[in-house]
Amino acid sequence: MRVIPQNDSFDREKMPVLFVGHGSPMNGIEDNEFSRVWKQIAETLPRPKAILCISAHWETNGTFVTTMDKPRTIYDFYGFPDELYRVNYPAPGSPWLAQETRNALTTTSAGPDNRRGLDHGCWIVLRKMFPGADIPVIQLSLDRTKDCQDHVQLAKDLALLRDEGVLILGSGNMVHNLGMMTVRGGDFNAPFGFDWAISAGNLFKTLINENRIGDLAAYRDLGPAVQMAVPTPEHYLPMLYALSLREKNEGLTYFNDNPVAGSLTMTSFKIG
Ligand code: ZN
Repeated sequence: MRVIPQNDSFDREKMPVLFVGHGSPMNGIEDNEFSRVWKQIAETLPRPKAILCISAHWETNGTFVTTMDKPRTIYDFYGFPDELYRVNYPAPGSPWLAQETRNALTTTSAGPDNRRGLDHGCWIVLRKMFPGADIPVIQLSLDRTKDCQDHVQLAKDLALLRDEGVLILGSGNMVHNLGMMTVRGGDFNAPFGFDWAISAGNLFKTLINENRIGDLAAYRDLGPAVQMAVPTPEHYLPMLYALSLREKNEGLTYFNDNPVAGSLTMTSFKIG
């Protein structure tokens, strides 16, 4: 059964889709070149009725959606300044969107989760984009037992939510190798990428530009630079989710297209 939205104050045009490279948790409290662009991008969007976030930082066995009215702010990182642990992002949840999301899935089912909350992949970006915390947010987990093709199929099922005023936000980093991270001069966000990171990032952009989702899903066949760039899939998959929602001939705009700390790229895009 379809649940009819009760609140018609949102914009009815097809909502854009975002993939955001989130990088350091500090981007959630710093006013820097990346977080400023997050704010600017949000200002280009129609006001969302609700937000569905697919974050690198929620992996589960099976697929889950958050269903609570008031998701708590999760501090899923270690060794950062106290200020970061004092941030609260009190956006409400959306049992409505949780149900719509569960209804939308055709090849898998998503279980309800009423205990988790919003992880930093979600809230560091949203508190810059929507500082009022007045737009309801839910998260969809990444099922670690699925292969990339299954994730692409699941993502395509979410397309109808765009017509209901839902902003779908993938949050990860296309190139993300924590073990190789090298901060130069104390500035995490200084532009710096190892050759393999830049090479993998450029290949990803070429494949994105040509809409070759099948090749991106088969990333393990894309050569040694990509193996270095994607040692584990969780920061890469949110990009695949976002790209899977791109309609034929729909525009795609990059932002924050920089390598940082040697082994990450902040490269992000807006579809629509
Ligand atoms: Zn992360």
